[in-house]
Amino acid sequence: KKIIIAIDGHSSTGKSTVARQLAKELGYIYVDTGAMYRAVTLYAMRKCYIDKHHFNREALERFLPFINIKFEVNSKTGLAEVFLNNENVEKTIRKLDVSNFVSQIAAVSLVRKKLVEQQQLMGKDKGIVMDGRDIGTVVFPEAELKLFMTATAKDRAERRYKELIDRGEKVTYEDVLKNVVDRDHIDSTRKDSPLRKAEDAIVIDNSNLTLNEQFSQILNIAKN
Ligand code: C5P
Repeated sequence: KKIIIAIDGHSSTGKSTVARQLAKELGYIYVDTGAMYRAVTLYAMRKCYIDKHHFNREALERFLPFINIKFEVNSKTGLAEVFLNNENVEKTIRKLDVSNFVSQIAAVSLVRKKLVEQQQLMGKDKGIVMDGRDIGTVVFPEAELKLFMTATAKDRAERRYKELIDRGEKVTYEDVLKNVVDRDHIDSTRKDSPLRKAEDAIVIDNSNLTLNEQFSQILNIAKN
């Protein structure tokens, strides 16, 4: 029987790596909801951005019906990539400038409403692994398996820093650490659907686990 697997947790805990692997192993669809918030953020940065710290919320709310987010599988890699109004933005949305802005955009209720509705539709046939911040609490409170992933801010910043450097971004470790800590703060204190562990979620602290150890633990749980 196909189920819904909800994976929530702090930023850069390796949620997407685990979720993607799990989906592959089970033959499920994988949905990265962070990519959806990031794509809306990119749109806001282009169209409703005032300066480094401010955006025009009303403009964003007005534009929302014209923001189309979808995923398409890249036939070469077999991985889903995110499209913003038919433009492939998979690479652009991972940049630090988008990361620095995304939690503010994700705190706009109308943005959440739109994306949560879309996410619920994607999961209507089950057989889905979805990762994010509010999947087990808001999007699919009825999910059969919920994981909550966490690790120290230092471990997470190191992971993200390596990723960004590998992709050729010019960032410092301090900038990345600040981003991780700031996002944790905004994500856990926002008014509607703050980042929190669902009561029935299994906590995975991966500070001390290798990816393989972690993955076999989770797969065991999913198959039982
Ligand atoms: O998962 P990722 O780090 O790419 O998510 C980027 C940001 O999108 C998070 O820091 C959070 O502000 C927002 N987000 C959210 N709800 C989700 C997924 C992501 O608010 N379900």
